[in-house]
Amino acid sequence: MEMTQLTVGEIKADVLKKNIKNLHLRVYAPTGSVRITAPLRMTLDAIQAFALSKLDWIKKQRQRLMHQERQTHSIEEGKTDEWCRTNLREALPALVEAWEAAMGVQVKECRIKKMKTRWGTCNTKARRIWINLELARRPSEWLEYVIVHEMAHLIESGHGPRFRALMDKYLPGWRLRKDELRHVYNAHL
Ligand SMILES: [Zn+2]
Repeated sequence: MEMTQLTVGEIKADVLKKNIKNLHLRVYAPTGSVRITAPLRMTLDAIQAFALSKLDWIKKQRQRLMHQERQTHSIEEGKTDEWCRTNLREALPALVEAWEAAMGVQVKECRIKKMKTRWGTCNTKARRIWINLELARRPSEWLEYVIVHEMAHLIESGHGPRFRALMDKYLPGWRLRKDELRHVYNAHL
């Protein structure tokens, strides 16, 4: 396999040469990046000529994908804080109750708050956990992870080996979720 780049019109395209028979051209969401997969024996000139002949099609695909991306964004923005609050208020009691049973801990109060740098917090003395409002706009796995994380603090306040063992026990996939969350906020929990 061999990877190069060429410019089609004003659009950069990645070219990947492989042991295949036919040329393939694809435009990828969400950025509209272009990738051409070409047979090994085909010269760059020939690939470029082919891509140029498809330039209108490439442009149309890119427009379509970028339009889709904008629409997706505006749907997300349509989820107002009020919507998020209602959504979480409905979802949280059952989730907390289920994890209370699974982990053998009691949460006295679970509240929702808009937070800039944290996904959740736990006041272990008051047995109160706070959940970031923003989680309503994110995959439900994230909310679950934050709940289990904060509830685990009712057993172990730090983030050391004992805490990690609890997480491994109750939510084996937690490390992946943690990584995902960290990409969005430099997330402290
Ligand atoms: Zn924590």
